[in-house]
Amino acid sequence: MKKRIFSLAITASALTLSSIAVAQDKTPPPMRPEATEFYTPVPPKVTPGANNTAPPSDAIVLFDGTSLNGFVSANDGSPAGWTIENGELVVTKGKGDIKSKIPFGDAQYHVEWSAPTEIVGEGQGRGNSGFFLMGMYEVQVLDSYESKTYTNGQAGSIYKQYPPLAMALRPAGEWNYYDIIFKAPRFNKDGIVTSPATVTVIMNGVVVQNHVTLKGPTEYIGIPNYKAHPEKLPIKLQDHGNPVRFRNIWVREL
Ligand code: MG
Repeated sequence: MKKRIFSLAITASALTLSSIAVAQDKTPPPMRPEATEFYTPVPPKVTPGANNTAPPSDAIVLFDGTSLNGFVSANDGSPAGWTIENGELVVTKGKGDIKSKIPFGDAQYHVEWSAPTEIVGEGQGRGNSGFFLMGMYEVQVLDSYESKTYTNGQAGSIYKQYPPLAMALRPAGEWNYYDIIFKAPRFNKDGIVTSPATVTVIMNGVVVQNHVTLKGPTEYIGIPNYKAHPEKLPIKLQDHGNPVRFRNIWVREL
């Protein structure tokens, strides 16, 4: 029995040696640097805007201060009833939410807004509006500058889902901007979400949402729940009864 074990051991070590020899024979030549360098696809040329917020050359401009043609009433598709003053789009109380004529999904969004200088109300009643991706995922617009409200309802929150990571807001009357990178959710043929929406929000140059995963449409009451919808839908701006001002709204589809 002892002898047999000995001979098995020899066989095993001979096998190991021979497989090392084979492995050495098959060692690939060292990789050249060029092996990991690609030349396609070629990124399209984009001319940046004149400053950090002006639309780049490939942006779809929804509002440039001259007309409301990019929007309609979110209720019934009739002409948007908000007003333009000094090239700024002003929420007009009672006229309802407005939505873009063009639907969007995966995209980079830019919007600038300013809370009313006449400070009325507090908490959620002060300078409230909203930028709704696909008409249902709200990045909160709110004068929460030195105003108390629930943190997941502050400016830059994903309403009632994620508070902003920082409070980078400017006081009422000054302009804030949001740069938003959004990936729309995907659904299978049975309407089950297979890939939830994700969003990154930069407020005035500060990251306030870092690629968060949305739990569903942002709800005022109740738990968010996905319901299947198309890959592109209009953005919506909210009439919350406060004369919030908007300017320079553009989108780059991704
Ligand atoms: Mg709101």
